[in-house]
Amino acid sequence: MRIEIIATGSELVAGKTIDTNSAMLARLLGKFGLEVAKITLVGDPEEQIILALNEAVGRAEAIIITGGLGPTQDDRTRFAAAKVFGQPLIEDPGSIDRLVELFKLFRREMPESNRVQALFPENAMIIENPMGTARGFTLENQTCLALFAPGVPSELEAMAEASLVPMLVEKAGITETIASVTLLTFGHTESGLADDLKDFEKKYPKVELAYSAKFPVIEIRITARDPELSVAEKNLSQARAYLDEKIGGYVFSQDGKTLAAVVQDLMIARHWTLALAESCTGGMIASAITDIPGSSEHFIECAVTYSNDAKERRLGVKKQTMIDHGAVSKETAIEMAIGIREASGADIGLAVTGVAGPGESEAKPAGLVHMALSHRAGQIHWENRFPGDRRRVRVLTAHSALNRIRKFCLKSS
Ligand code: ATP
Ligand code: MG
Repeated sequence: MRIEIIATGSELVAGKTIDTNSAMLARLLGKFGLEVAKITLVGDPEEQIILALNEAVGRAEAIIITGGLGPTQDDRTRFAAAKVFGQPLIEDPGSIDRLVELFKLFRREMPESNRVQALFPENAMIIENPMGTARGFTLENQTCLALFAPGVPSELEAMAEASLVPMLVEKAGITETIASVTLLTFGHTESGLADDLKDFEKKYPKVELAYSAKFPVIEIRITARDPELSVAEKNLSQARAYLDEKIGGYVFSQDGKTLAAVVQDLMIARHWTLALAESCTGGMIASAITDIPGSSEHFIECAVTYSNDAKERRLGVKKQTMIDHGAVSKETAIEMAIGIREASGADIGLAVTGVAGPGESEAKPAGLVHMALSHRAGQIHWENRFPGDRRRVRVLTAHSALNRIRKFCLKSS
């Protein structure tokens, strides 16, 4: 079924308001396997709506038109609809009564201008609006079903869930079920992941993979469709096992949890505590951790030791270490991690020190970060040369640190 959306509103085409309505509709429809073929933005004027509607009616089997159902002069959608479908507008007595009732609730007289919201094309079927004055309506010809709905996002969403989407699901005769899961990955590029999974399509033709990059995390959505839910679920779990084998090392979450939340669960399950020493990230790791409710159960403290003097005074890093190797070095990172672990009594001490940029030196290029994790069992050091500007380097560093704690926890289960 070809579905199109027409979003009306001069503020949309002017770039003053972003068309979130169409995205919301497309997402809701997608849950039922319904795809939107085209989204058109038009301004308020009636001719523009007529033009877009005429075109879409000729192409699509279903259209959702949003906006322009209000009471003001520039709300022209009902007039355009009446013209395109060749029907007169008729006042609906039930809608007049409803408007009068609504205004009584607001303790106001109904303005005369609102009467227009009770006008509908002759053969329209009215769609309830549980959230506002603008009721929607449907119109149909031999080939196309058009659904008209208000533009206010909250009203539209309520109407979409209650009426618009169910109407289209029924029209499409959908009996298909969907099983899906979204994996969150860190540490590999989108093209790298796609490369590792290049045989996937051949192996699992009935399962769909969709990548979505949300820096620095890449989401992979796996979707299996089948008339039988049990078959969709079986196909999904087989595909899932294949992904685990190929790229499992990069997957940190499959239920939407952030890396910091995953780390928190792992730490608490082990009754472990964490302390941080952050230089180039300036507290970003601590901020991500304390964003999660309940973080006090495992997180003790963070020392933001930016200067060499602070690294020495607060963490006990030896002056000579920094003279010999520099503040951004394996040796300093390890002493920082040990220092914060011993000072705090935490099970894990984690330290990062790096060159966030853009300033750099030949020996210490921008993006170079040394990180260390200290545990009573010993120390782990790793270094990265992260690409990108200052912000990206810092975000990548914070994720890399959290991911290393995650892996360390998993190894020590
Ligand atoms: P109604 O049909 O309910 O009267 P309308 O579109 O005529 O809606 P507007 O005043 O144009 O009423 O829009 C109401 C609010 O909804 C405005 O803040 C507008 O920016 C917003 N809006 C309209 N269309 C969209 C859209 N496609 N995406 C996001 N916001 C939208
Ligand atoms: Mg409008």
